[in-house]
Amino acid sequence: MDRRVLVKFSGEALAGAEGYGIDTQILDYIAEEIKNLVDNGIEVGIVIGGGNIIRGVTAAADGVIKRTSADYMGMLGTVINGVAMQEALEHKGITARLQTAIKMEQIAEPFIVRKARRHLEKGRVVIFGAGTGNPYFTTDTAATLRATEIGASMLIKATKVDGVYDKDPMKYDDAIKLDTISYDQALEDHIKVMDDTAIALAKDNKLPLVVANMNEKGNLLKIINGDFSRCSIVK
Ligand code: UDP
Repeated sequence: MDRRVLVKFSGEALAGAEGYGIDTQILDYIAEEIKNLVDNGIEVGIVIGGGNIIRGVTAAADGVIKRTSADYMGMLGTVINGVAMQEALEHKGITARLQTAIKMEQIAEPFIVRKARRHLEKGRVVIFGAGTGNPYFTTDTAATLRATEIGASMLIKATKVDGVYDKDPMKYDDAIKLDTISYDQALEDHIKVMDDTAIALAKDNKLPLVVANMNEKGNLLKIINGDFSRCSIVK
């Protein structure tokens, strides 16, 4: 199904000026962008990170909290974001289902790929929470995994930048945006798009990774319709 995509948002994207927590106006903006896709017949899966609440590596940095526990805390953070996203979508009249990699049935459905596909076929947005359900992974890897499982035609990483540059565009004025990048290039240190695990999984499954600016209204739909002028694509 060419019209099925997975969009990944970082937790930080939800935080707004505060730098932490959830800004409901940003949530509302994202929901509108997703509605735009659904209204155009696109089947949408979503993965949201948890960096606005807790990151495993940071929480475990001084050794008081073990890394495994810190990572479970991080995964719980993504569920908090997922509940919020589900609400924001429903507020716009879109049917959404939150599925979690760790069972918490009072809050969300457990992740069942066949059920997820069924929801998507019915035009429901499926939000995948709790990452992969395992410590030592990231939500970028979870997004790559879920995109592959649901048979998405691409994974769009919605970020604050227009794409991938040959060097840090915040530091260098002459940084050049790379329109198309190979998986092997993406694994190179200075142009890291995602973590190596996520890129390797995408490479194995020939899943195109698109890095795009989420703050450019209508960009997600443009990309899905084949206009890749305002993003970078790893394939
Ligand atoms: N996490 C994890 N396993 C996963 C996905 C996430 O342990 O499969 C934890 C990890 O601690 C991570 C945190 O959840 O730091 C939040 O996810 P991430 O850092 O990927 O969020 P983002 O940077 O996208 O906001």
